[in-house]
Amino acid sequence: MDREKVIKAIGDLLDALGEDKEREGLKDTPRRVADAYAELLSGAGQNAEEHLSRTFDTKCGDMVVESGINFSSTCEHHLMPFFGKITIAYIPDGKVVGLSKLARTVDVFSKRLQIQERLTRQIAEEIMRVLKPKGVFVCCEAEHTCMTCRGVKKAGSLTYTYSTLGEFGQDKKNEVLSLIKR
Ligand code: ZN
Repeated sequence: MDREKVIKAIGDLLDALGEDKEREGLKDTPRRVADAYAELLSGAGQNAEEHLSRTFDTKCGDMVVESGINFSSTCEHHLMPFFGKITIAYIPDGKVVGLSKLARTVDVFSKRLQIQERLTRQIAEEIMRVLKPKGVFVCCEAEHTCMTCRGVKKAGSLTYTYSTLGEFGQDKKNEVLSLIKR
């Protein structure tokens, strides 16, 4: 990200919106927005290899489920936040990963311009690529502020997306879904 360019662009945006960008409340806004984007998009161009390659050997092949991982991301269609919870379930093939590493993986893929479907898919693909489990199932539940604060304004409406890779039977999926059902 070119910070100076973003600062200039946000100033231009305020101008274009008819605002006085020199007034007290706005004069530092371009810099603040640039700093916010630097953090919100910090996962762009990264992968989660360093997190997911810290594994422990296991003989146990039972499913591992990490549910309710909080995330926030930025919708690439409106540059507005969407946020919610992600659940990751996988069936190990000799290796498991520390639970905090799954949360780090979620950060890598959520801190960039995203759509929810791709976020869900990329997490599943990265786990398959690096950890190489027998199968993985990722569920994402999110509220999109571009829907709840504008447009159809359906406050509280949630969007669900799922991604399955490898061997992951319907019985196991049902088990995971029953865990996250409220
Ligand atoms: Zn949107």
